[in-house]
Amino acid sequence: MSGWQLVIGLEVHAQLLTRSKIFCGCPTTFGAEPNAHVCPVCLGMPGVLPALNRQVVEFAVRTGLALGCAIQEKSVFARKNYFYPDLPKGYQVSQYELPICQGGEVEFALDGAERRVRLTRIHMEEDAGKNLHGVAADGSSGVDLNRAGVPLLEIVSEPDIRSIDEAVEYLKALRAVLMYLGVNDGNLEEGSFRCDANVSVMPVGSTVLGTRCEIKNMNSFRFLRQAIEYEMRRQVEILEGGGKIVQETRLFDPQRGETRSMRSKEEAHDYRYFPEPDLPPVRVPAAWIEEARRALPELPRARAARYQRDLGLSAYDAAVLTADRRTAEFFDAALVARGGGAEAAKRIANLINGEVARLANEAGSGAPQGKLAPAALAGVVRLVDEGVIGGPGVRQVIEELFREGGDPQAIVAARGLAQVSDESAVEAAADAVIAASPDEVARYRAGNAKLLGFLVGQVMKGMKGKGNPAVVNAVLRRKLGSP
Ligand code: ADP
Ligand code: MG
Ligand code: ZN
Repeated sequence: MSGWQLVIGLEVHAQLLTRSKIFCGCPTTFGAEPNAHVCPVCLGMPGVLPALNRQVVEFAVRTGLALGCAIQEKSVFARKNYFYPDLPKGYQVSQYELPICQGGEVEFALDGAERRVRLTRIHMEEDAGKNLHGVAADGSSGVDLNRAGVPLLEIVSEPDIRSIDEAVEYLKALRAVLMYLGVNDGNLEEGSFRCDANVSVMPVGSTVLGTRCEIKNMNSFRFLRQAIEYEMRRQVEILEGGGKIVQETRLFDPQRGETRSMRSKEEAHDYRYFPEPDLPPVRVPAAWIEEARRALPELPRARAARYQRDLGLSAYDAAVLTADRRTAEFFDAALVARGGGAEAAKRIANLINGEVARLANEAGSGAPQGKLAPAALAGVVRLVDEGVIGGPGVRQVIEELFREGGDPQAIVAARGLAQVSDESAVEAAADAVIAASPDEVARYRAGNAKLLGFLVGQVMKGMKGKGNPAVVNAVLRRKLGSP
C-alpha cells in the first residue's frame, strides 16, 4: 500500500463512573438482569422530566481540564432524533452546537518521539439501551434498557492520526488519563470505553483529506488494528481501481476480520438536532472550574516524568508503571515500605514490570497484582538485598504471593527457598566439584577463563540451585587461583 497515507480520527465513548444515570436515579451497575435498572424517565414515558446529574458535569469538567480543553461556561443539551428499538424516546439527549469542552489534546510518546493529537470537542450524552437477539423462548428479540440513560462522554479527535500504532497509543494515553481521573473504568470488553474509527487514505504528500468511512464500536485494541488495516486496504484497492470511496458507516466483523457496510453516512441534518426543551443550558461558574483545576490529580505523564527525574527509572519502566494508576500506586506503596531510594525503586520496578506483569498476563483478569501486597513485595526486595533469596527463589515467592498472598519470609522458610551463603557449605560443594573435574580445572588454570561459568554451574547443581551465586563465585575464584 505504498504511495498512500492513512488518516484516522477517533470518537471515543467513555462511560462515566457515576452511581446513577444522567437524568434519573437509576443505578449504572453492569451485569444486572435485563430491565432491572429502569424507571419512567429512562424508559421514555410521556410526561416525565429529566434532571441533570451534577456529577456528570463535574466529571466532564475534570476531563476537559486534564486534556487542556476550553471549558464552556454555558453549554446546551440537544435532541438527536432517530428511530431505533433501543431508544424508547425516539431521540438521544446529547450536545451539539455548544458542547461543554472545546479543543484540547492528547499527548503520548510514539517510538520515542512526543506526539500530540488535537481534540475537537468533548460532550456529554446519554447511552442507548441494547437489543438482545434470540433471547426469548420463541427466539424473538428483546430490548434491555439498563444502559439507557447511562452517562457518556464523547471525546472527538481531529483527523491528526497517521498510523495504526499511533491510534492505539492515543487510545491508551486517553484511557490512562480517564482512569487516573476516576471518571471511567477503562473496560473495553464491557463496553465502558469504546471507539469509532474514521478512516481515510490520501496520496502521500497530499494535504487534501480523502473521503472517510466510520467503523463503529470496537471493543479491543486487536480488533481496532484489524479493522483499520482491512479498511485501509479496501479503500486503496477501490481508489487504485479507479473507483470512489462512498462515505458510510461500517461494522467490523471479528470472525471474518472484515468491515462491511452498515448504512450510508447520515448527515447532521438527518438527526434534526434541536436544543432539549426540558433542560436549561448547563452553566459552569468560573470559580467552579478553577476549583476543579486545583483538585486535579497528578496525571500519568507527569508521574512518569517524576519517576525518571527523582528515582532514575528508565523511560520505559516509568511509562509501564504509570499506564495504570493502580500499578503506579502499588509501586509507590511498595517503595515506601522498602524505605525509598533509587536502588529500591529500580528493583521494585523490575519485579512489577517483569515477574508480576507476567503472572497478571497469565491470569488474564483480576487485579494486576493478584493477592500480592505492596509491603510483601517490599519484603521480597529486602530478602534479595540481604542475600537470603536469589533469582529462582524470587520467582517462586512472588508466584505464591500473587496467587495466595501471605508473608515472604514465612514462604521462604516453609518452602526452603533460602539460598546458602554459608562459606563452609559452599566450600564443601566447591571442593567436591574441583575433585570431580580435574580436566576443566586444569584448562581453567591454563587460561580458559570461560570455564569458571561451567564450574559455578556444577557447584550450583551440587547445591540443588540454592547456592548464593556471589558466594559460589568468590569461593571458586579463591580456590582456583587466577586463570
Ligand atoms: P460526525 O459527527 O458525522 O461523525 P465529525 O465531523 O464530528 O462527523 O467527525 C467525526 C470524526 O471523523 C472526527 O474524529 C474527525 O477527526 C474524523 N474525520 C473527519 N474527516 C476525516 C477524514 N477525511 N479522514 C479520517 N477521519 C476524519
Ligand atoms: Mg461520528
Ligand atoms: Zn431511570
